[in-house]
Amino acid sequence: MKKSKFSSKEIQAKPRTRQVHGRFHSKAWDFSHHLIPPMTSSTTFRLGSLKRGAKGFLQFAQEGKDLQNPILIYDRLHEPNTLMLEEQLAAMEEGECALSFSTGMGAISTALMMALEQGDKILCHKTIYGCTYSLLTQWLPKFGITTEFVDLNDPQSWSLFSDSKVRVIFGESISNPNLEVLNLPKISQELKKANAKKRTRPALFFIDNTFATPWSLRPLSWGVDVVLHSLTKNISGFGTEMGGALVTRNEFASALKIARKDFGAILSPKSAWEVFVHGIPTLSIRFDQQQKTAWAIAKYLDSHPKVERVIYPGLPGHPNFKIAKRLLKNPEGDFSPGFMVSFTLKGSMNKTEQFIDDIATGSYAMTLAVSLGTTKTLIEVPGYMTHSTMNEKALMKSGIDPRLIRLSVGLEHLDDLKQDLSRSLGKI
Ligand SMILES: *Cc1c(COP(=O)(O)O)cnc(C)c1O
Repeated sequence: MKKSKFSSKEIQAKPRTRQVHGRFHSKAWDFSHHLIPPMTSSTTFRLGSLKRGAKGFLQFAQEGKDLQNPILIYDRLHEPNTLMLEEQLAAMEEGECALSFSTGMGAISTALMMALEQGDKILCHKTIYGCTYSLLTQWLPKFGITTEFVDLNDPQSWSLFSDSKVRVIFGESISNPNLEVLNLPKISQELKKANAKKRTRPALFFIDNTFATPWSLRPLSWGVDVVLHSLTKNISGFGTEMGGALVTRNEFASALKIARKDFGAILSPKSAWEVFVHGIPTLSIRFDQQQKTAWAIAKYLDSHPKVERVIYPGLPGHPNFKIAKRLLKNPEGDFSPGFMVSFTLKGSMNKTEQFIDDIATGSYAMTLAVSLGTTKTLIEVPGYMTHSTMNEKALMKSGIDPRLIRLSVGLEHLDDLKQDLSRSLGKI
């Protein structure tokens, strides 16, 4: 058995405790005298000798090695705050290594550039975040990389895995904004079968786990190869930082680190510190509270006469309820369908616009704004906002109703959120 890199004290602790304390003695910084690690701000580092400098560059290119005893060189390569954050993210996602990025899109674009070559093809789930859609349809084709959109939960799409050009299967564990839950174990099992028959490079399974967060789902344990995150959302949690991350196996660490160095989308050390010190230690408690309220709001909306449809993975009527119950579990074993709720109102788009404008001007606890996973409840209309890079035809193909309303539930009291909703629903 491989010797664990974690101390026995750390292994015995519960996940939510580990999220507060992290690597108790991280090699990236001397924790022994600080309760909170210092926020560092140094773009470059003293190298001491030519030999040590040369060794640092050599180590950087070798997978995983720098984590054990890093020789710090220059912030775009790596530095203490981001290293500590990465150790913590890897542990939370149960992965071998993690890398942080300036934004979620920085993580997604760098990871795809690492994995793909001219002529390669991506098979992507039909419903994804608008900017990821734009990256796949507007930019990657310029480099000869094409994307086919399919329903990854539909067995018919699995036969395409054996196409020798397919190198990446891409999806979101809980899709933005339709909140579909992908059947990760089945998709990865089918991909493994197809890869075994291929004579070319195997295809990798990429999952954007932003909506679930590692508190609700650890995709690597279901056969996924690369997990992606927008740290901007619930992992940072307070709406003050932008960031991205990926978690994967050590075999990809070296290529990814070099790609990040050269494409340059590194996370600011100050943002890394915020996510590490404030975001992650409070994730479990924020998530649990937001989820409790989201669940109640989903039930409330589901029984409201003016609401046409509610999508929430915790409702038994959700199309993927069975797989949601199996996959969406916090590390303590509780069903964790999350803090996002999507719904449509009965009637035309005019009704939805009236409702949204009334929320924007008249509500106290709900804010019309994009983004998600903050302490404040945010409401938006994806078809006209976060997914506006998709035209009407593309929205239809993705199964996104232009009238769909997306709600990210915050830390307010349920009664106040219900009051805002009921007041605006009463006006239409
Ligand atoms: C917001 C978001 C992203 C992009 O993250 P940024 O930090 O804004 O670049 C990617 N995927 C999903 C699912 C998102 O919600």
